[in-house]
Amino acid sequence: MNTQRVLVVGGGIIGLAGAFRLALEGHHVTVLDPSVGHGATWAAAGMIAPSAEIAPGELSNYRLQRQALGAWRELSERLEDVTGHGVSIHEAGTLLSGWDAGDRRLVEQFAQLAEEFDAPMHRVTRHDSPEVFEGLSPRMTHGLVMEDDAWLDPDEAVERLRTGLRALGADLVAEAAEHIGVDAAGVVAETSSQTLRADVGLLATGSTPLPTGAAPSGANVVRPVRGVTVRVRGFDRSDQPMIRAFVRGRAFYMVSRPSGYCVLGATSDERSELAIEVGELQRLLRDGLDVVPALETASVSEIRYGLRPASADLRPFFETIKPPGWAWVSGHYRHGVTLAPLAAREVADFVGARG
Ligand SMILES: Cc1cc2nc3c(=O)[nH]c(=O)nc-3n(C[C@H](O)[C@H](O)[C@H](O)COP(=O)(O)OP(=O)(O)OC[C@H]3O[C@@H](n4cnc5c(N)ncnc54)[C@H](O)[C@@H]3O)c2cc1C
Repeated sequence: MNTQRVLVVGGGIIGLAGAFRLALEGHHVTVLDPSVGHGATWAAAGMIAPSAEIAPGELSNYRLQRQALGAWRELSERLEDVTGHGVSIHEAGTLLSGWDAGDRRLVEQFAQLAEEFDAPMHRVTRHDSPEVFEGLSPRMTHGLVMEDDAWLDPDEAVERLRTGLRALGADLVAEAAEHIGVDAAGVVAETSSQTLRADVGLLATGSTPLPTGAAPSGANVVRPVRGVTVRVRGFDRSDQPMIRAFVRGRAFYMVSRPSGYCVLGATSDERSELAIEVGELQRLLRDGLDVVPALETASVSEIRYGLRPASADLRPFFETIKPPGWAWVSGHYRHGVTLAPLAAREVADFVGARG
């Protein structure tokens, strides 16, 4: 095969998944990132939940995400081949419910849209399926189960990908690319201490401004959409669907892991300051407690934040940019964990077609 040397700038879930696939296909890969897995990926709940994420006007996005679960299973198998450990994928489904009368109307509107999208789902009641409502407010008596939603732990996925990359002989350089370019020998990335060279370069930098020297066409732009997740310990409903609720018109979710670790989310703000405001935290916890009163005695173990990379049309993009030999992949917004193995295929097709 046509083996290339590839520089991947950015070790979030998109860069790592792409790098792993490239290394698996025999390319010589170098990943540059001063803090692998600590961008938006760090904050993500890890839901692969195309059905619960249905939104008006996002049918094509939904269809793309529906392919993601199979792609994750395949990626996990490859990781297992290489490292002996795959990524645990929990096909739990999502329970969607509403907290007050207005929220229940939102659930009904959602059900109509989900029907139009042909999403696999069924209705449940507390009366018939009390276990599905375990830990939830007694006000919540009806809901929809979105059947083929799943979740994984992004920390585990990052660790497995990192291990897989090392096992395949890839280099991980803990530095930022400050400037990118091209010379007679190929593409060039300059860090504060060295110059790295390869045949092909890939920018997978999430919502971070691109290194100097990168000149995209202007057709794609990314803006940061900040989000916070709170992680608590002490309540386990991991044998039941994930929870998604409308509460006073806001959206709330909870992913419960078998260890009693729950991820509560998520705020969404069109800004980039990485600071957590008391008010947004209070709203998130209040919504959480209203929906899941059983969280009352759980202990807060961590609060994480990240900047979702959002494009103008909220769809991911892959663009070849100047200087020649470089490409830019971003815009995965709320769905980067979900879409990572599909982005990886696109990256591998691009590199494989060169040379
Ligand atoms: C609160 C929250 C919850 C979320 N929940 C989910 C979810 O449940 N499911 C889901 O599918 N998605 C979720 N997302 C979205 C998902 O996290 C993002 O879409 C995804 O992480 C984007 O991945 P990325 O690799 O493009 O960017 P990032 O994860 O931000 O990674 C970019 C990386 O590039 C590095 N970098 C930047 N510039 C340079 C440079 N010049 N040189 C070297 N390295 C550089 C950074 O250090 C960083 O590690 C959530 C996001 C947030 C914020």
